[in-house]
Amino acid sequence: MDAIALQHVSFTYEDLSHAKGASAQRALTDVSLSVPQGQFLCVIGHSGGGKSTLLRLISGLSLPTEGTVLIDGNPVHGPGMDRSIVFQDYALFPWMRVKRNVEFGIEQANTVLGRGLSKHAIAQRADEYLRLVNMQDACNKYPYQLSGGMQQRVAIARALAMDTQIVLFDEPFGALDVKTRRSLQTLVSSLWARSESPKTTVFVTHDISEAILLADRVVFVDAGQITADFMVDLPRPRTVENLAHNAQAQEIEKRLTDLFYESSPAEDEEEIALSLDAVLGQEVRPWQRF
Ligand code: ADP
Ligand code: MG
Repeated sequence: MDAIALQHVSFTYEDLSHAKGASAQRALTDVSLSVPQGQFLCVIGHSGGGKSTLLRLISGLSLPTEGTVLIDGNPVHGPGMDRSIVFQDYALFPWMRVKRNVEFGIEQANTVLGRGLSKHAIAQRADEYLRLVNMQDACNKYPYQLSGGMQQRVAIARALAMDTQIVLFDEPFGALDVKTRRSLQTLVSSLWARSESPKTTVFVTHDISEAILLADRVVFVDAGQITADFMVDLPRPRTVENLAHNAQAQEIEKRLTDLFYESSPAEDEEEIALSLDAVLGQEVRPWQRF
């Protein structure tokens, strides 16, 4: 049975503002997708294409307007302890020290799933995962005392230490510099591969090289639909260096780059042009810009 299945899922954001000219925003249209147990799926596409909405539906933070989302064959009615999620903005509890943040996640899963872990076992598990992400020395710090990359390490430790069947990532490294990003990509990839039964992972990104480094499979989401779906059958462990000399990796990169260029003209560009119009008080279109 598939770990995750979306069956003819559509999603519309209702506009609750009742502002003049407001209208409901259709974010996904008739999306069907099956993710087998243990697969590392990357969801890639332009900004505004519907990637986060897709992830929110899998997480249960949003429920479909039409269609069904199934986890292990059971319909999703809301968030559950079988899924953990890592967001771009770290989302640690600011009033808890680093170790407490991780323990809290483990405790929640422990209580809801009735695992019967002792307080001591929970603390040990938190230590183990903080070591894995190389944050053991920061366990008594507060999130605000850490850099973005360090906070994201803790968020990853928390999500993985919860030992959920499914781990969801929404552009977790989007706000980080290239070097930190690379090291966290390697971390996520090695933690995933280290397990005997790898966790089913859905990882949203708009970074092509990130998708090729991490994914078993890539789906391209554009204007609320899946427009491409293919396997990334490259040996692991993968590094930027060894992929640079791999013809198949280059072919996949070209395919993904083409998808970005062929797909709907970037909504971002149109939005940037519109906001420039507003700032400059005149019409500026992409081809006129600087
Ligand atoms: P992505 O993650 O690929 O950038 P999203 O899933 O966030 O895309 O957004 C898909 C579409 O839904 C976009 O047109 C976006 O403007 C719209 N959208 C996203 N969140 C909301 C919201 N809370 N209310 C209204 N529209 C939204
Ligand atoms: Mg998004």
